[in-house]
Amino acid sequence: MAGTNSEPETIMTKNSKPAPRTLAAQAGHYLDPSTGAVTPPIHPSTTYARDDNYETIYSSTYSRDGNPTYDQLEKVLAELDGGADAKVFASGMAAITTFLETIPTGAHVAAPRIMYHGAQDWLRRLADTRGLGLTLFNAADPDALAGAVKPGETALVWIESPVNPTWDVIDVAAAARTAHDAGAVLGVDATVATPVLMRPLEMGADMVFHSATKYLNGHSDVMAGVLVTNEADARWAEIKKLRTLMGGICGPYEAWLLLRGIRTLHLRVERASENALAIARHFDGHEKLDAVLYPGLESHPGHAIAKRQMDGGFGGMMSIQVAGGAEQAKTVATGTRLFIPATSLGGVESLIEHRRTVEGPESAVPENLLRLSVGIEDVDDLIGDLDAALQGV
Ligand SMILES: *Cc1c(COP(=O)(O)O)cnc(C)c1O
Repeated sequence: MAGTNSEPETIMTKNSKPAPRTLAAQAGHYLDPSTGAVTPPIHPSTTYARDDNYETIYSSTYSRDGNPTYDQLEKVLAELDGGADAKVFASGMAAITTFLETIPTGAHVAAPRIMYHGAQDWLRRLADTRGLGLTLFNAADPDALAGAVKPGETALVWIESPVNPTWDVIDVAAAARTAHDAGAVLGVDATVATPVLMRPLEMGADMVFHSATKYLNGHSDVMAGVLVTNEADARWAEIKKLRTLMGGICGPYEAWLLLRGIRTLHLRVERASENALAIARHFDGHEKLDAVLYPGLESHPGHAIAKRQMDGGFGGMMSIQVAGGAEQAKTVATGTRLFIPATSLGGVESLIEHRRTVEGPESAVPENLLRLSVGIEDVDDLIGDLDAALQGV
């Protein structure tokens, strides 16, 4: 049975719940009962009327609390990650900052030393302004997290895997055990892996975060973020309340575009992963490179863990370290014709970026590192483009 716009239903096939790629391809499985429209409408209304008994008709009366377009999107997102519920936000950072509001003042947080810089900047800010204890650990060392948590004090372990932009792999199941043993919750930024390749909630994580600006939307034209919870517990109730109070909700048009983007999520992620693996293999050992960082390479230190906890590929993100230094790396970043010299990731088009320039002199990222967001173009074109740019160094 089809869902209606006010009450999206889970589709059931004859024998079982459909596979994630089916749920994504039909994101929301919308069928308008009055017209048969196959794609969902956008609900731009900010306000929802009451009936003759002055009862609310819809579960929300004001769209900062909720809106049928968000409902439909959130249902798909929760299903893709196997969570109890999902909430969308105006950007990835709006989701992260709202989540971090639930960490008590003065509590302790452990996070990787190299990670998405915006989230780390916010953690550092909370350490300065609200007495948050912060321990940054080396994600490349599998034992470092255990040394970074403080039993009874650590409220949150926040990880990414693969870690941006070195693509170190963190063992999510092990991190969940370490966090829980210390009495902390585990939050995982799974933007790069996407629910197509990794489902952290099934490995013990309590909260999953995605910058929906990236792969979930996939076309570099929407800003949004999402939190998916393993349990609809007291923390989740607080997050929902904080979204309403802090107001970091995305617009209905963005939510609708996300529903559209998610329909091709699996195809895009699978092609980007195939392309990235082919590029990594081609350039591994290249004379103009010091290193190719990609968890799909057998030589990558995190390969075995990545293989265990990711399914269907290693993602579209990789980095190369150019022999020489910052100057040589920037020459490559400006020498490509197909790889566009721009920030962000997860779109259908390939991007190349000198991370140190973007993150600034405080950054722990090597100065010869270029981050590649590999798109869905013809892989031989991409390899030829990079090859030509490397010849120019
Ligand atoms: C982009 C990004 C974020 C932040 O998301 P925005 O949508 O830009 O606010 C967080 N984590 C990772 C890994 C990202 O790539």
